[in-house]
Amino acid sequence: MSNKFQKLIEHFSKLPGIGPRQATRLVLAMLEWPVADLEEFSAMIAGIKNGPTFCKECFNFAEAEKCAICASIKRDQTRIAVVEKVTDLESMEKTGAFNGVYHVLGGAINPANGSLPEKLKIAELVGRIKKLKKLTPDVEVILATNPNTHGETTALYLEEELRPLKVKITRLARGLASGSSVEYADEITLVNALKHRR
Ligand SMILES: [Zn+2]
Repeated sequence: MSNKFQKLIEHFSKLPGIGPRQATRLVLAMLEWPVADLEEFSAMIAGIKNGPTFCKECFNFAEAEKCAICASIKRDQTRIAVVEKVTDLESMEKTGAFNGVYHVLGGAINPANGSLPEKLKIAELVGRIKKLKKLTPDVEVILATNPNTHGETTALYLEEELRPLKVKITRLARGLASGSSVEYADEITLVNALKHRR
């Protein structure tokens, strides 16, 4: 295989869940794209780190200081759903059933792979809630971590950390099968889990 394809395949292989075989398929698929799309794609990749990348409030993707959700006056800023990843946020957004805001931790507690509480945006969450509590006593934090071991560990840890702040803490209802994930839950399950949170 030519060098230019080999290099591109290597880059794609660095992405999570992509092996060399899949990377090859991606490159072959892109050969079918119109040149204009390829140019736009490469320009976007080149500029991916220009300007703000993450919301300073919730750590969602953002093109300004705050993401579109945090900046929206239509969203209830006193209801904060704590999720592990941006993809979880996107799955919840797709349901349209949640009118609050989010806080993206950047993963779950998993000491075996070095994901310790200090590496997650937990201090930022505590700071954010303290600030919010000065404005209103009525704050709800919805722990929407994944229903697996690491997600549960994280939720328990957060409950301990947040208890002194005296906010209402709820969890997504058990509609989500244990061992599953927020990201891949189907919409109806996720809507129910939100509706019956406690
Ligand atoms: Zn935000």
